[in-house]
Amino acid sequence: MEENQIIEAKKLLQGSKKIAIIPHRNPDGDAMGSTLALFHFLKKMNHHPVVIAPNEFPDFLAWLPGSADVLIYEKDRNGVKNILEQAELIFTLDFNALHRTGEMENVLKTLQAPFIMIDHHQAPDLYAKATFSDTSYGSTCEMIYDFIDAVSDVKMIDKTIATCIYTGIVTDSGSFKFPKTTGKTHRIVAALIDLGVENTEIHNFLFSNTTYESLQLLGKALQNMKIIKDRKTSYITLTQEELDRFHYKKGDTEGIVNYGLSVKDVIFTAIFIENKEEGIIKISLRSIGDFDVNQLAREHFEGGGHNNAAGGKSMLSMQETIRKFENIVNVHPKLKF
Ligand code: 5GP
Ligand code: MN
Repeated sequence: MEENQIIEAKKLLQGSKKIAIIPHRNPDGDAMGSTLALFHFLKKMNHHPVVIAPNEFPDFLAWLPGSADVLIYEKDRNGVKNILEQAELIFTLDFNALHRTGEMENVLKTLQAPFIMIDHHQAPDLYAKATFSDTSYGSTCEMIYDFIDAVSDVKMIDKTIATCIYTGIVTDSGSFKFPKTTGKTHRIVAALIDLGVENTEIHNFLFSNTTYESLQLLGKALQNMKIIKDRKTSYITLTQEELDRFHYKKGDTEGIVNYGLSVKDVIFTAIFIENKEEGIIKISLRSIGDFDVNQLAREHFEGGGHNNAAGGKSMLSMQETIRKFENIVNVHPKLKF
């Protein structure tokens, strides 16, 4: 972490302040883990923090300490807007551009208070007074560990903060298997477990928490999987009708995209999930090796992310979206067998 940014952040954290902490829309384990870890840390520093999520977080994160106090912008636009306008400092975590907060962006853009960004995605927008942006980190939670050490003392991290940090590291690293998992990641995780983090219990909360219906939905998704063998590509579709049939709840499709990469020889996969209410097909992209899905998401699907995990959206119908996707895949020079 850059020394001058740390000096700036320390300056911004002087005194006792009203602080808003904001994750991206559709927050995942890393977004919720990092915002809540920072929330508990700032409380210990005698600040008055509040976590404000743009929309609901999934049920499988509802056990995180502090999650009951998280405010949801899209559930109470005026109330939350008032709180944002009173904030003296804003942290934005786990995203690189204000539009990642959805319509909440319109409020954030009008705020006078300074921002601090902590994030590990490529190409950050430069709206913050202090910017911690580093794509070498596998998670924003791992950055929060270093941030707390840098602006205060690693000894401030207690079991509650450690539990939040551990959650984001586990979820963003695919349980420690993605390429950005380093020796340092494991040393941090070791320190967190030494602080009392109940790692087995957290894995159970995160991954042994499915319902019969969400498993049936997974079965449907796997049946829908298509393989484009001569392009080393697979993809899955889920229509709104299929989601409704299995009583889809937020979080039910989490992780399904990864099954597409588990097929032998496949290096690129996608999942297309219809959202009738928002009028979009939500897209998640994953790859193995040097096939850059961040670039593909930016170029074709109004999205972004990381080299091996990115997302975007399409305003076309499911059928047209798939046709567009297949056309891209069929001419991509890196996907030739
Ligand atoms: P997921 O596919 O799990 O939703 O997201 C994978 C990665 O891509 C995450 O780092 C996420 O923040 C990013 N991502 C997902 N959807 C979008 C999007 O619509 N726009 C951008 N810029 N990034 C996205
Ligand atoms: Mn993340």
